[in-house]
Amino acid sequence: MRECLLNYLACPSCAGAILLASEAHREGEQIIEGQLSCGLCRRTWPITRGVPRFAALDEIEAEKAATAAGFGWQWQRFTQADEKYAQQFLGWIAPVEPDFFKNKVVLEGGCGKGRHTQLAAQWGAREVIGVDLSAAVETAFAATRDLPNAHIIQADIYSLPVGRLFDYAFSVGVLHHLPDPQGGFRSLASKVKPGGHISAWVYGAENNQWITRWVNPLRRRLTSRMNPNLLLQLSKVPTAILFAATKLIYGPLNRSANGASLAGHLFYNDYLNAIAPFGWREQHTIVFDHLVAPTAFYISREEFAQWWRDIGAGEVDISWHNRNSWRGFGRI
Ligand SMILES: [Zn+2]
Repeated sequence: MRECLLNYLACPSCAGAILLASEAHREGEQIIEGQLSCGLCRRTWPITRGVPRFAALDEIEAEKAATAAGFGWQWQRFTQADEKYAQQFLGWIAPVEPDFFKNKVVLEGGCGKGRHTQLAAQWGAREVIGVDLSAAVETAFAATRDLPNAHIIQADIYSLPVGRLFDYAFSVGVLHHLPDPQGGFRSLASKVKPGGHISAWVYGAENNQWITRWVNPLRRRLTSRMNPNLLLQLSKVPTAILFAATKLIYGPLNRSANGASLAGHLFYNDYLNAIAPFGWREQHTIVFDHLVAPTAFYISREEFAQWWRDIGAGEVDISWHNRNSWRGFGRI
């Protein structure tokens, strides 16, 4: 971590200022090993391999830990970069554009391997702090350590060790995997300054009944409990079906003038057309993602709208993404 991160940290127990108590190893501006402490209640947290650790996986509840461990394992493995990430990210946070990040202090709730933290930093955020509970912070740190305005911390979204100092917070694809998605949203929103903004993207309940009916029970009872290496191999079977369908049917039909109207009637067309350009590894990641997490909620528009009313957000813009998920943007 860089020392300037201290300006944004606050004790998750007492909201006291967090100080650098000791420093054992530094590489350039990065403190690699050391200890942080609360100036008020004296709690301490280690800095390990460059990342301040406000939550260790053995301290948190089993279900959250299992989700984080599954994704952590995945994020550490799928480290392929892809230029489509930027477009995908903008699809999840629309109407936000890259310019919006300029000079803003930004918080990402659930940064995974840090690809969005990295984009936010490259798009000119003054500072961006990516928070994740899982071991993916190792990859996120490696991906962002050379960006002077990017910071990674390992912490629980329900107990964020930061002050209410952010111009913009966002969370994409994470809240629906929490045991209490709305609680996570509320916690993230509580760190945004009045007049600042927040974005969230969640799985929709609408159009996903086939997942809640068929995939969820399988995921809960079987795939999320499996050895991730075995699941990675087995998930190649549904990926092969998805890959063939998108490359041979959905992609070509949607691209052809005569086929597009026909494609509109196909099952899950908007989403499958959107992922049709993706390569094998990326589609494999998507399938694995859906099978590995023990917790996944599918949220209706009405329920999502209620989240925004409950935090008192203004100018709320909720829109349908690929007809299977909701994205929201609003002012605190
Ligand atoms: Zn404290």
